Amino acid sequence: MSNEPRRAGRHFLQIPGPSPVPDRILRAMDMPVIDHRGPEFQKLGRRVLDGIKSIFKTKGPVVIFPASGTGAWEAALVNALSPGDKVLMYETGHFATLWKNMALKLGLVPEFIETDWRAGVDANRIEKRLKEDTAREIKAVCVVHNETSTGATSRIDEVRKAIDAAGHPALLMVDTISGLASADYRHDEWGVDITVSGSQKGLMLPPGISFNAVSDKAIAAAKASNTPKLFWSWEEMLPHNKNGYFPYTPATNLLYGLAEAIDMLNEEGLDNVFARHKRHGEATRRAIAAWGMENLILDDRHFSPVLTAVVMPDGHNADTFRKVALDHFDISLGTGLSKVAGKVFRIGHLGDINDLTLVGTLGGIEMALAIAKVPHKVGGVAAAMQYLAETAKPFPSS
Ligand SMILES: *Cc1c(COP(=O)(O)O)cnc(C)c1O
Repeated sequence: MSNEPRRAGRHFLQIPGPSPVPDRILRAMDMPVIDHRGPEFQKLGRRVLDGIKSIFKTKGPVVIFPASGTGAWEAALVNALSPGDKVLMYETGHFATLWKNMALKLGLVPEFIETDWRAGVDANRIEKRLKEDTAREIKAVCVVHNETSTGATSRIDEVRKAIDAAGHPALLMVDTISGLASADYRHDEWGVDITVSGSQKGLMLPPGISFNAVSDKAIAAAKASNTPKLFWSWEEMLPHNKNGYFPYTPATNLLYGLAEAIDMLNEEGLDNVFARHKRHGEATRRAIAAWGMENLILDDRHFSPVLTAVVMPDGHNADTFRKVALDHFDISLGTGLSKVAGKVFRIGHLGDINDLTLVGTLGGIEMALAIAKVPHKVGGVAAAMQYLAETAKPFPSS
């Protein structure tokens, strides 16, 4: 018996990843570990390697690593590029900054388009820079699709257009670690060369696996790369994947979970998944507006369906508020990262959540705002409920 007093009911994990893991996925992973070189594994391997493609909306290969999203970032850079290569990166927020810092550590030469973290990518700035690069020194453009530190979702189709308008041959690399399976994403249609993602956000899985969806152009670039690599090497991975296997021990039980997650997303329908997230984003923003509080993101074209970052009034610390919410209502809200530490808290509205999860989340926040004496108006939850009621539809019956 633990000395910790029991907290009844489910913890509300409303951070923008890891997101709550549905019971169905937990049960699917509750399996004996099998021989990853045996015939039973081959079925699982083929099922996930094939099934995951429709989630990225690609016909090409999707490499799966036993690693967090950071590993898949590194894989993208070391496979397709060589030391000294110039990369154009865009400062949407903390995660874009971490990726840029990684590029530096790996001996690449990142150029960073700086911002105030209050919007998504302005594709015109990318187009302008690429047009100036007449020597074609920039080898890749790297952008974060859903910037989890700020709540900005960027328009990857516009980034593609910008690269094309400049007639530039750079690869397009996109981090959709927190966007995949929550916000619409189209690897092939948007001409993305490498899409990086992870398991613990929209895919509703525990942390531990991550992905690179790769285009033919990316594979060709990998052939020319002279960066040393083995664990991350697509060249090592892809021949094994063709037969449903991996060159080294995969995260077998997470792959059982992934197979279940893909089924669940397909049963709901990806478009319905995206619509559900959009609607919850809108309801959350209506609550914030009714509280008289401020969304960190100012540009409504970039509002994220995955999370919303709320700016604290002057003189109030976001982490003090988050602790009040956790201690009173057993809800975890996202902390502010680096530049916005203490200044914002983040509401995750992604993954396996429904209207009542969201109403509970917003209710916990509104009560905690009162307890923490954060200046606000009451009625945020009511505003969200009104919107949800107006837009609610009965679940389709089978
Ligand atoms: C979560 C996240 C990461 C980091 O992934 P880890 O799994 O923590 O390594 C990177 N980029 C974005 C946009 C994220 O949301």
